[in-house]
Amino acid sequence: MQKHLQWALLFLVFFYFLKTPQGYAQKNDLEKQIQQSVLNDLIANNRSFTQEGKVADYIPELGKANPNDMAIAIVTSNGRIIEAGDTQKTFTIQSISKLIGLVLAVEDRGEEEVFKRVGYYGTPKPFNSYADLETHLKPLNPMMNAGAILVTSLIKGKGQEPFERILERIRYITKNNSIQLNTRVYASEKSTGDRNRGIFYILKNNGWIQSEEGDEDQLNNYFRQCSIEVSALDLAKIGYFFAHQGTRFDGDTRFKNPKLTELILAQMLIAGMYDFSGTYARTVGVPSKSGVGGGITVSVPHQMGIGTYSPALDEHGNSIAGYHMILELADELDLSLFR
Ligand code: GLN
Repeated sequence: MQKHLQWALLFLVFFYFLKTPQGYAQKNDLEKQIQQSVLNDLIANNRSFTQEGKVADYIPELGKANPNDMAIAIVTSNGRIIEAGDTQKTFTIQSISKLIGLVLAVEDRGEEEVFKRVGYYGTPKPFNSYADLETHLKPLNPMMNAGAILVTSLIKGKGQEPFERILERIRYITKNNSIQLNTRVYASEKSTGDRNRGIFYILKNNGWIQSEEGDEDQLNNYFRQCSIEVSALDLAKIGYFFAHQGTRFDGDTRFKNPKLTELILAQMLIAGMYDFSGTYARTVGVPSKSGVGGGITVSVPHQMGIGTYSPALDEHGNSIAGYHMILELADELDLSLFR
């Protein structure tokens, strides 16, 4: 009898190890696969794509970026950092800041309050479209400019404070206190941002934004958040943060919030790459967010954060070499959520 029990126990232990550590084994496997040479190859294999896109110049200051620049950084599930390419280059975060703006607005007001004013829709429209403000009256989602301008207006604080809170949170997530506002890009955005200014006033007219006559503080905070200067590594750390329920890459859990990061990842998946999001979900299959500064941040849930930089953009406003590096990596490591 004793002997039978022993065998039964042994069997149980055997099957336990056969079954449960699968995720663990996969993670370990990925850890081993992500090596410096893999990243170097991604840069080399996709360099030609930099010649296909065009650097954004509708914000004149962005037009000064070097279209040949390329960088990639990964923070693995263990918090290990690997980088390749022009890793020292910094650029403005642009629309990737919309993730952090949404985090703060939801922390301040709750998801329900925020989403009374903005939809959960995906989009067939470009990032700066405002057509839906005429038909639905509210923005399609918080990833497009209209939604993001609205969301930022909901962050608590007077004057410049909402922007300062966004900056502070980005510094926390990246553990990088040297991150600053690029004042030249900010001035450039502000002086040429009439389309965003128009959106701001339509939102005000529709009753979603409250502000005194002539007071554009809330709009300026949106311009400022877009003008925060980061590196590919900073973006990888942001990706890691959302992939790990709000745990920072060094294990700090001060802002851990699974419910909130679930919302952010869902938004990234449905609209993070704007009207390209559907194709992106099919080809890459991982929540990601791009910005017209040339950055893309990628969150592989429970695994890694990836940041890429290359300022030449495709017709959707997404970094073209960045996309192709991510596509190759996702394929190589089977990163798609749907595989
Ligand atoms: N600041 C940019 C704008 O409002 C952000 C757009 C983007 O990165 N897609 O036009």
